Amino acid sequence: MLIQSNVGGDWRANLATIRIPLSVKNDPLLSHTLETLVDGGRIAKDIGSDLHRNSDLPGLTALARMIKQSRFGDHVFFNENLHVNTTNICTLACRFCAFRKGPRHSDAYSLSPEEFVSRIEPYHGVIDEVHAVGGLHPQWTIEHYSEIYEMTKRHFPEISIKSLTAVEVKHIASRSRLSIRETLKRLQKSGLNSLPGGGAEILVDSIRDRICMGKEKSLEYLEIHAIAHELGIPTNSTMLFGTIETIEDRMTHFDILRTQQDTSGGFQCFVPYPFLEDNTRLPEAKLASGEEIIRVIALSRIMLDNIPHIKAYRMNIGDNLASIAINAGADDIDGTVGHEEIMHDAGSTTSVDYDRDKLARLIEEAGQEPVKRNSTYSQFQPISSKPLIQSQALPIIGQ
Ligand code: SF4
Repeated sequence: MLIQSNVGGDWRANLATIRIPLSVKNDPLLSHTLETLVDGGRIAKDIGSDLHRNSDLPGLTALARMIKQSRFGDHVFFNENLHVNTTNICTLACRFCAFRKGPRHSDAYSLSPEEFVSRIEPYHGVIDEVHAVGGLHPQWTIEHYSEIYEMTKRHFPEISIKSLTAVEVKHIASRSRLSIRETLKRLQKSGLNSLPGGGAEILVDSIRDRICMGKEKSLEYLEIHAIAHELGIPTNSTMLFGTIETIEDRMTHFDILRTQQDTSGGFQCFVPYPFLEDNTRLPEAKLASGEEIIRVIALSRIMLDNIPHIKAYRMNIGDNLASIAINAGADDIDGTVGHEEIMHDAGSTTSVDYDRDKLARLIEEAGQEPVKRNSTYSQFQPISSKPLIQSQALPIIGQ
């Protein structure tokens, strides 16, 4: 059965009809925020900073939950996907990155198109999306990526290819002496369906210069996504927080993303995730606590009034926080995943062997209704987890 992704109508009108919890009603800042949204307004950056610093977590999450409810009711979306990284060799050395390797490192790898396809083969018939990002390979040009996408589509035409961060697009364009537009057009023709949005980090150049020197500037990130949107390639967007940014930097990040969305409209989902500590990379990182992670997810929902989906990225925040997040404004969980390197190289211990049933159960146990979606949020199917097998009552000896 297919269902609509929205509960119907205007979410702001729906929001006006939801019973207001006391934790929101009794807090002047939260109730003012709610009124602003119901009246069609946008939450200003300074109000966002105030909410971040001063609101009580139960009230903030209750407000974010109301907004999620007004868009999607009790539905929480997930997809069945696989992460395949094309290469871990990278010409850059972002300070937070535990994934990249130099070309001569013993663990360095670069997948041929055949190897890429063989990684997908065991999941054929189960997944409907491959999520493929990687480092900036010093030799590869557009031909290598085109071959990967074309071969993938020849073998698995039903699998949607969500691939390339903005900096990869920029690198491929520069290595191939093409414009960004021409690069994306050719990759789209080869089978690229959407961009995952990774690499946004914090869209404030003074911070980028300190944590990911050499990466595209904030405006370039936005331009690459805007061109993708113009070409009909939907994208996601991300935010890496808990490095060295301030609360105001986070608000700037929200603000420029929603301003871009007003114009180009192709961001389907926002994925906020924290930097994972490992004591060697970025020792000056401020690191986000569990409470702060939930606070940022709730604020993503409140501030990003024009990006429909907010994702709880379980590969990064783990299953416990993900199940709290879907009651704090997030409406989407990524995903069954199958295999993941970037967050696990950085210290994540989240299980990658979730199937549809386990993920559905996680959502149900959080009191929400699981809905399987496709990669581009255009098809939806409600799913129930299978009942757990109850252990049989043993006969009492002697009876
Ligand atoms: S984050 Fe991406 S661009 Fe930066 S070093 Fe890692 S792989 Fe390279």
